[in-house]
Amino acid sequence: MRHIITALTITLISGAVFAEQRNAGSHVHGLNHATIVLEGNRLQIAYEFPAEQLGEQGHEEHKHEEHGDKAHELSKKLETIESIFSMVRLPDNAQCKETEVTHSLTQVGGSDTEHAGHSDALIQATLECGAPENLMNLSFAPAFDRFDDLEKIEVEGVIGNKALSETLTATSSSLAL
Ligand SMILES: [Zn+2]
Repeated sequence: MRHIITALTITLISGAVFAEQRNAGSHVHGLNHATIVLEGNRLQIAYEFPAEQLGEQGHEEHKHEEHGDKAHELSKKLETIESIFSMVRLPDNAQCKETEVTHSLTQVGGSDTEHAGHSDALIQATLECGAPENLMNLSFAPAFDRFDDLEKIEVEGVIGNKALSETLTATSSSLAL
């Protein structure tokens, strides 16, 4: 069982899987993806969304900007989201502290003309939780508050030995673990 969980954990968290999902057409405006893995005291949360949600680039695409400039501007905007707590709220008594946050942008597949020039943004956070047994629920209300055009979040993950798969909306933004 332990091996299965570890393999699932690696599969869920690996960048390769995100890349595959993108190629399969997961770049859907209004739809975000979150991956949550709790192993012992360590909680990993990945949050992926179409970079359009960072704002204003619909118009930029019509300017004659170099791709590099646009990507640079997007990554600056992405990095202003300093903490995963901008997206998700955890119970205080679980005592989770962020130890690492990384940001990345990936261009959506070029053959797809509808989304040519579009990117996906990814925030990955590692947290250490003092009392992970108190992780009874989590709320993505902060993400729904932040992004006006966000309709749904598909959440997948592994909490201890339990697999997780749910779709959240603005009116149902919490998840019982
Ligand atoms: Zn797009």
